[in-house]
Amino acid sequence: MKCEEQLFNPGERHSSRDCQLQLGHAGHHEYFGQTYPRPVPAEPDPDVADLIERAARKSHAWDLDEMATAPGATQTKYRVTYQRVGRHGGRNGSPAPAPLTVWAVTADGLAKHIAKDVRPYILSSGAEIAVDLEALQVAEGGAA
Ligand SMILES: [Zn+2]
Repeated sequence: MKCEEQLFNPGERHSSRDCQLQLGHAGHHEYFGQTYPRPVPAEPDPDVADLIERAARKSHAWDLDEMATAPGATQTKYRVTYQRVGRHGGRNGSPAPAPLTVWAVTADGLAKHIAKDVRPYILSSGAEIAVDLEALQVAEGGAA
């Protein structure tokens, strides 16, 4: 299967040229020996990401899932501290699990990291691990 990216010369609005190389090729597109550079994507703009974050917080619409689908969504660093996990992580004088520092984009992603982290403290393999995101402390500015 061919790439078939339509190739334009400067100033052209229509073109009958399309890339002759295989689909998924690396480097520039090509039409009978003539190369056409790929468009360069714009760098993510931190000011735009800040604006989205501030607007979302102000309208109380802030949500990890929304962040994941919002333009400029980025991973956020979380520090998760445990009070107790199961019967052996922080109960009956045993120490609570060490805090977890983890990067996640969505709430689901964060929950999976936490579930994996606390798994050794859960004796029953059939136990369901519930993560209460309301109780988590999100570090401002992504630094924990
Ligand atoms: Zn191509």
